[in-house]
Amino acid sequence: MHELGIANETLDVALSEAHRHAAKKVTAIRLCVGVLRAVEPGNLSFLFEHLARGTLAEGARLDIEEEAIRVACPACGDMEADSFTSVCPRCKGTPVTASGGDSLSILSIEIDI
Ligand SMILES: [Zn+2]
Repeated sequence: MHELGIANETLDVALSEAHRHAAKKVTAIRLCVGVLRAVEPGNLSFLFEHLARGTLAEGARLDIEEEAIRVACPACGDMEADSFTSVCPRCKGTPVTASGGDSLSILSIEIDI
């Protein structure tokens, strides 16, 4: 249930941001979550909705953007992959460097003042 921790943290950040701007309401939150975080977006939204009840973020929309892993192959160039790999998923032979896919960040918070 690590989605619960993420939902909690997201709500905390959104609420402190709302208080800082003396907002009446948090309307939307945009998150970037890397595929390596193995977060189930539906589950995260559900938990967030539940935690936000009775707060300024009640009813806020949670937009979850998934960040893929980026693979750079010397033979076929840059591409995205769903899982971590050390061999190019396209030509299957070339060792590649993979990066990204481990993001967990709040991109933006929309509030009503
Ligand atoms: Zn390749």
